[in-house]
Amino acid sequence: MTNNPYLEIIEHLKKANTVAIYMHINPDGDCVGSSLALYSFLSKVGKNVHCFSASDPAVPKKLQFLPNSKVINKFQALNKYDVSLGVDVGDAGRLGDALYKQYLKGQTKIVIDHHEENKDFADITLRENNAAATTQILYKLMSYWDKDLIDKDIAIALYTGIVTDTGSFSFSNTSTETHQIASELLKYGLDNAEINRRVMKDVSYNVFNLRNRVLNNTKFYNDGKIGIISYKLEDFEKTNTTENDTEGTINIVLNIDSIEIAVSIAEIADKKYKISFRTKHKVSAAACAKTFGGGGHFHAAGCRGYGHFEDVYQKILSVCQEMLDHYDAN
Ligand code: 5GP
Ligand code: MN
Repeated sequence: MTNNPYLEIIEHLKKANTVAIYMHINPDGDCVGSSLALYSFLSKVGKNVHCFSASDPAVPKKLQFLPNSKVINKFQALNKYDVSLGVDVGDAGRLGDALYKQYLKGQTKIVIDHHEENKDFADITLRENNAAATTQILYKLMSYWDKDLIDKDIAIALYTGIVTDTGSFSFSNTSTETHQIASELLKYGLDNAEINRRVMKDVSYNVFNLRNRVLNNTKFYNDGKIGIISYKLEDFEKTNTTENDTEGTINIVLNIDSIEIAVSIAEIADKKYKISFRTKHKVSAAACAKTFGGGGHFHAAGCRGYGHFEDVYQKILSVCQEMLDHYDAN
């Protein structure tokens, strides 16, 4: 066995007949892109591939333009797979209980991911936290295996992951390697303007209405360095939207020039909240999220919150203020 996790993973996948691919809850463009790129690639080399999402819909509406998106959750799960493969999954909890149980039944358990260090739960973990996206890692994996098998559909899925997680090549995680790989992917003739528009810009009329409601109530603290938006169940009900429709809105707050930390608190059930952190400069969003048992990347992270809204809100605000004080003092 080799020490190179790329080759080790390829070796296991070559031997496998059945492969189950697992996505994290509320899958984003990187997670769905990873899953679909692997589905196409592994199918081409003759594997029986099933993709699983714990979310409903399995793929968010805005990503359903991706080739083959209908294959996710299409198959009845087998009792056992040769390989369980988690993509873009920073920790086991992100799979949700049911999928995690199923994941554990794989003969060989693999994770390919790019989140900050976390408790590893697989037999083989390929984690590059300096990779902008999981699809950036997958491009390298596929190139090691057989670059000729990459086709336009795979390129679209891989490129979508990179666009999503770099905010169209604008976040600090965008590296020379990111641009090099994106440039290779463009050669497959994909429509980059269309993908960027669909992934980063388009919103439904309902999401526009949801944004108007919550942005209007943004609260600012510490001379406008912290901004917090909150969604109540009522905001989703009144605009016919769901927690999946919160994506991207936090960036509108982050984009205010004075802001160092933007937070979004979304009530998703009674006393249960989906929380997102986005930061600029030296404050770590991952550190904020870790305080509440979550995680993510340096400038983008998330966690769940439980309890009365006011209590959760105050705890989050004080963690953000502590992080900011620490940053200001250094
Ligand atoms: P978002 O705020 O867009 O949901 O997520 C931002 C980043 O944080 C993503 O990379 C996502 O995987 C990660 N993240 C979001 N929520 C959680 C969570 O509850 N636990 C962990 N470990 N990571 C999360
Ligand atoms: Mn990702």
